Amino acid sequence: MILILGGTAEARKLAALLSEAGHPVTSSLAGRVSNPAMPVGAVRIGGFGGTDGLIRYLRGSSITAIVDATHPFAATMSEHAAAAAAATGLPLLRLTRPGWSGHPGATSWIWVPDLHEAVAAGDSSNRPFITTGRQTLDAYAGWAQKQALVRLVEMPAALLPTAWTVVRSRGPYDLDSELELFTRYGVDLLVTKDSGGRHTIAKLDAAGRLAVPVIIIARPPLAAAPEVGDPVAAAQWISDLELHQPGDQQSG
Ligand code: NAP
Repeated sequence: MILILGGTAEARKLAALLSEAGHPVTSSLAGRVSNPAMPVGAVRIGGFGGTDGLIRYLRGSSITAIVDATHPFAATMSEHAAAAAAATGLPLLRLTRPGWSGHPGATSWIWVPDLHEAVAAGDSSNRPFITTGRQTLDAYAGWAQKQALVRLVEMPAALLPTAWTVVRSRGPYDLDSELELFTRYGVDLLVTKDSGGRHTIAKLDAAGRLAVPVIIIARPPLAAAPEVGDPVAAAQWISDLELHQPGDQQSG
């Protein structure tokens, strides 16, 4: 049984590929969103209870390998996965979608190491477009008077400043709709994480077209682990691994 730490489109794709190839999978979701897109195969939802809880879960299961396919900014889960893999001896692969540093506009963006620096760097903006996610909104408390546009998958429990406009959507987005959104709200700054992938890249293309400055938060550093950039390579890694596990070898 392969454990996929999920919550991303890549994780769902991997669950489908592995299931098709006959590898049983369990996908794990954090349970943050109320109506998550569900992967094929078995699914468990909710935290494990830290590294110790994950180790207990792994020891009480038939998991033979872990694929950490969480979002590049889900650093806590990734660190727990690395620690639990080390403690249990289970093989761990990280499936990480490539970041946006190769985008044609990337050299003109303001790269910052964290959210705190992003807020400091964007403080002179009047109409920022905040796309860093619900869990980051507390950091923008000082921007309560700005005419901010905030795009969220899920509404936060706390009330947001009345000057802000909230757009709820999940993507994907295309260039035309992003250009229309930027123009309609007079966006003068885009704040984003380096989430990578195609799903939300159109906002960066739109910012480039409209000469809107971009503040981009670099990915959090993680301990070294074997890593691939796409689900097909991750499925191949699992197939190779299973071939090399003595009990799984086919005879004849
Ligand atoms: P995080 O800060 O790294 O994790 C915080 C805690 O949430 C973990 O310690 C773990 O709780 C639980 N958790 C996270 N991912 C889990 C998973 N796949 N299965 C079971 N428990 C999980 O994570 P996050 O940034 O809040 O992200 C939560 C989930 O949303 C992730 O699965 C991620 O792939 C997805 N996501 C995140 C972002 C983002 O920008 N951060 C964007 C899109 C999707 P315990 O310690 O109790 O085990």
